[in-house]
Amino acid sequence: MGFLQGKRALITGVASQRSIASGIAEAMHREGAQLAFTYQNEKLKSRVEDAAKEFGSDIVIPLDVADDAQIQACFDALGKHWDSFDILVHAIAYAPREAIDGEFLDGLTRENWNIAHEISAFSLAAMAKAARPMMANRNGAIVTLSYLGAERALANYNVMGVAKASLEATVRYLALNLGPEGTRVNAISAGPIKTLAAAGIANFRKMLGHVEAYAPLRRSVSIEDVGNVAAFLCSDLAAGVTGEVTYVDAGYNILGMTGLDT
Ligand code: NAD
Repeated sequence: MGFLQGKRALITGVASQRSIASGIAEAMHREGAQLAFTYQNEKLKSRVEDAAKEFGSDIVIPLDVADDAQIQACFDALGKHWDSFDILVHAIAYAPREAIDGEFLDGLTRENWNIAHEISAFSLAAMAKAARPMMANRNGAIVTLSYLGAERALANYNVMGVAKASLEATVRYLALNLGPEGTRVNAISAGPIKTLAAAGIANFRKMLGHVEAYAPLRRSVSIEDVGNVAAFLCSDLAAGVTGEVTYVDAGYNILGMTGLDT
């Protein structure tokens, strides 16, 4: 019996089989969770429906987090299938391309800043708020995806790094707020993985090569690596863990300096 047997999970952020959310869905399905999915737009609908089918789910709900009404409608629609649920996977981020290519100040506009923060950080809090009545008092868990750019300055990551810092702070405030009703909130800070979102970041391949050369494990991480940790964090095995950022990055974040011979 899997360690998520009897749990129900809503998974956002599936855009392709390479999405981190797909790796999380795979691990949660394997461990016995029942799954429901959201899709961002009509273009992605059939792809997410196919993925859902693979995991034995026919609950597929539209959700563009730029729209407050859609966030509420998502949980209203979910409520028609499930009266309550246990796990919310937030695997959503976006910044306009010109804001994550080149120098921080070159791509800086009020609009780019607001879009990055709204889609990548505010959406976590907004979803947690809308999900709250269905998740309270069930030993539930929320997990989101962050990146090292939240705490270190990395070329090209720019405003997305600032938005990820906001996301990680949001995790801590949500953990404090929802802890008394038994809901845990955590982030995974994943190393670079080639996905559609990552392809938008300038020099992404160079980043990946750098991690493979210098991370303690001398490799990059996979969506399976991240999926397994997400499944654990959302299970009762992690019942004592909340408000944390857990690194799944082959150890890269511990390094002080790279490129020196050992
Ligand atoms: P992905 O492109 O597969 O997934 C990004 C998802 O965000 C897509 O499913 C997209 O539909 C969704 N999304 C974007 N705007 C949205 C909106 N307005 N409403 C609803 N959904 C929206 O890429 P991914 O790498 O799997 O990204 C998932 C998460 O992992 C993101 O938060 C990303 O920042 C984070 N992350 C990725 C990496 C990496 O290297 N790939 C590393 C660390 C963290």
